[in-house]
Amino acid sequence: MIDNFMWIRGEIIRQSQATVNVLSPMAQFGVNVFEGIRCYWNEDKGELYAFRLREHLDRLMLSSRLMRLPSPYTPVQIESFMKLAIQANEFQTDTAVRMTLFADGQGTWNTCEPVSLFIASMAKSRTKLDEVPSYKACISSWERINDNALPPRAKVGANYINGRYAHLQARYDGYDLPIFLGRDGKVAEGAGACLFLVRNGQLVTPLVTSSVLESITRDTLIALARKAGMTVTERPVDRTELYLADEVFLCGSAAEVSPIVSVDGFVLGNGLPGTVTVNLLKAYLAVASGDNPDHSEWRTLVSSRT
Ligand code: PMP
Repeated sequence: MIDNFMWIRGEIIRQSQATVNVLSPMAQFGVNVFEGIRCYWNEDKGELYAFRLREHLDRLMLSSRLMRLPSPYTPVQIESFMKLAIQANEFQTDTAVRMTLFADGQGTWNTCEPVSLFIASMAKSRTKLDEVPSYKACISSWERINDNALPPRAKVGANYINGRYAHLQARYDGYDLPIFLGRDGKVAEGAGACLFLVRNGQLVTPLVTSSVLESITRDTLIALARKAGMTVTERPVDRTELYLADEVFLCGSAAEVSPIVSVDGFVLGNGLPGTVTVNLLKAYLAVASGDNPDHSEWRTLVSSRT
């Protein structure tokens, strides 16, 4: 079992030693808000960079506000705890970080305090450019949660039950992953990742009001694509636009850029990861790892070899 060091309630301890009351609102009802952050190891520089940490911390605060789970710590404090959590493990490799503010103690689903924080990190390599994966997707018969029920804009643990229903159904039906439609029948996102399509050389992605998380990777890719001279449009997307697209991909901190090669059996392009998709994946990894020095404001040094 992997038993890395983690930070929880002010202490660095082994993951196996971290405890939460089984009757806590977090354990019983998923009352937590969290962030999944990637850190990229730059071998030449011997440095590990968290990608877009400021935006992740801002979103953690946004989720905490919406869930009325007041954070006992400022973003600056959380950043320093995160560095401690990572440095305790002396990682010299790509790393994934999970930071979670949770309803601790023994309350029920509507309890707001006490709120605690944990920050865990684990080695997780980036997508290998010589082994880019490809996924067969379906349109899920499960509807995406919406802003008047369980707001997708907040990154809340319990929201992921929606993704779980859809993902397990997709796998049961022989697909790799689901794509959600929202209440309005328009394309929303994947289970845990946002979506782009490419048609006639232009990128299209659903609006942030289309029942999606305000994805940091989505924002990154819009910026990188525009810089590369591509047209990117944020607008409502019909399901049949996915069937007719030249390329479709999902994106997220965990997913990075994940090519989808068919939707409901409609094969996209030549059935292989598309050129635009792969080029964006390369550009994304280059900037995230610091191989491309642009956008230094997106990289936070969290540990180094020396
Ligand atoms: N949508 C959902 C539901 C997610 O969980 C994630 C992953 N955090 C994303 C989209 C992508 O968001 P980001 O690019 O900020 O990781």
